[in-house]
Amino acid sequence: MTLEFSNKVAVVTGASRGIGKGIALELARNGASIAIVYRSEEEKAKQVQTEIEEIGQEAMTIKCDVSNSGDVARLYDAVMDKWNRVDFVINNAGIHQHLKSWELSEDDWHKVLDVNLTGAFLVTKAFTPHMLEKKSGRIVHISSCVAFTGTDHEVHYAASKGGLFSLTKSHALELARHGINVNAIAPGYIETDMLVFDEVHPLDTVLKTIPHHRLGQPEDIARAVKFLCSRDSDYITGQVIHVNGGLIMY
Ligand code: NAP
Repeated sequence: MTLEFSNKVAVVTGASRGIGKGIALELARNGASIAIVYRSEEEKAKQVQTEIEEIGQEAMTIKCDVSNSGDVARLYDAVMDKWNRVDFVINNAGIHQHLKSWELSEDDWHKVLDVNLTGAFLVTKAFTPHMLEKKSGRIVHISSCVAFTGTDHEVHYAASKGGLFSLTKSHALELARHGINVNAIAPGYIETDMLVFDEVHPLDTVLKTIPHHRLGQPEDIARAVKFLCSRDSDYITGQVIHVNGGLIMY
């Protein structure tokens, strides 16, 4: 059976769990072969590979710290050796850290910026020449609603996600004439390991702020990514899609 993404290859960073896993499975269900990029959770990444193979698609796992250019070069080589093409790059890998701005060390600041922002830049840079050559491609950066709202407990995270919006627009301007669309998604509260509730931000209080009155699931983000990789979004670039149950509206 021919599916929409048959013969397409997607690189999904941070695909061992959470939102990235949801994206990897959704793109695979629609026919894509998937490079599952992870940092440390090898077993979880292998489990995602098994689930994709059970769907009937090809997958490989690649250990790669996206903030390390040597690792990213090896990621590029591994994907090209296996499939010799890449159609979609999904920059999803991210870390966060709940600390007040005055508690952050310079090292904390750099670590979060290096993974969330520099990582997206490095992975995009690695695959752009290939996309330029074939004059097509889709790049999706996973940002966050806090880039718009700000946050009172992780300024470095919010700054890294705001940087992704500027990166999205600039990449989109550079690459549109070469057939490459670049967009971002700004998730609200999505139920993954990253989501932490505490006495300052308890779950029931958070739910009251979400018009849909539920947490988002990785699949909610994955379906938006699928749209941004599909022909249905051919004329969409440089945009941010907010997937947040109505939490913030623009
Ligand atoms: P998660 O469950 O904590 O998963 C994070 C993923 O990123 C894991 O696969 C992890 O790999 C990978 N990763 C972390 N550092 C990496 C590095 N240096 N190089 C390569 N991979 C790395 O997080 P999530 O909730 O799914 O978040 C996914 C993205 O959505 C992040 O960019 C996050 O900022 C964004 N987001 C999440 C929410 C939310 O509410 N959950 C809201 C807004 C935005 P290992 O498993 O190997 O450690």
